[in-house]
Amino acid sequence: MDLLIATTNQHKLAEFRGLFRALPYQVMSLSDVGITDEVAETGLTFRENAIAKAEGYAALSGLLTLADDSGLAVDALGGRPGVFSARYGGPNADPPTQHRLLLQELQGVLWEQRTAQFVCGIAMAQRGRTTAYVERQWPGLVAWAPQGSHGFGYDPLFWLPDEGCTAGELPPDQKNRISHRAMAAQAAHALLLDWPG
Ligand code: IMP
Repeated sequence: MDLLIATTNQHKLAEFRGLFRALPYQVMSLSDVGITDEVAETGLTFRENAIAKAEGYAALSGLLTLADDSGLAVDALGGRPGVFSARYGGPNADPPTQHRLLLQELQGVLWEQRTAQFVCGIAMAQRGRTTAYVERQWPGLVAWAPQGSHGFGYDPLFWLPDEGCTAGELPPDQKNRISHRAMAAQAAHALLLDWPG
């Protein structure tokens, strides 16, 4: 059976392909199935966005479709940038610009108050079936400065106390064992094993 992973982010696609390797599904990307239409992320929660994308692309493709919405929720900023993480600093801001802006916003914020969570919500939708949703968090702290060149997005700024390094310093296979996306994908994996065929 085919499983469409509805993302244009190549990093996420690679992470999901690795995480779903053992499933009896042929993992397809949007470009594999020739979908160029974009389902807009207009929700205010990870749940709303993930469900809208999964249901939107399931309708376009006719396939069982998995979509995620993720972001960094910083406690000292009331959960920002949250669902707006990709667009933090404007639609064209690159990660170094976003890092600078985040560090600027957290200027003067003490270490104990720099707690944050990476959040990943995953929705799975198929025409005629109830959409499933799971959400997982990965706690850490916003570092004083970016460190490491692995991963993407805010990884170099995400300090992991248990690992003693940032997510940007973790080898990809290690990140894929412990991240918010890994945990949410594991929960999604369990649901897919029982997905009505
Ligand atoms: P989405 O494509 O709307 O889910 O945007 C997620 C955004 O959140 C990304 O563009 C990154 O800025 C950030 N993000 C989500 N997950 C991660 C991660 O694993 N590492 C670093 N940044 C992440």
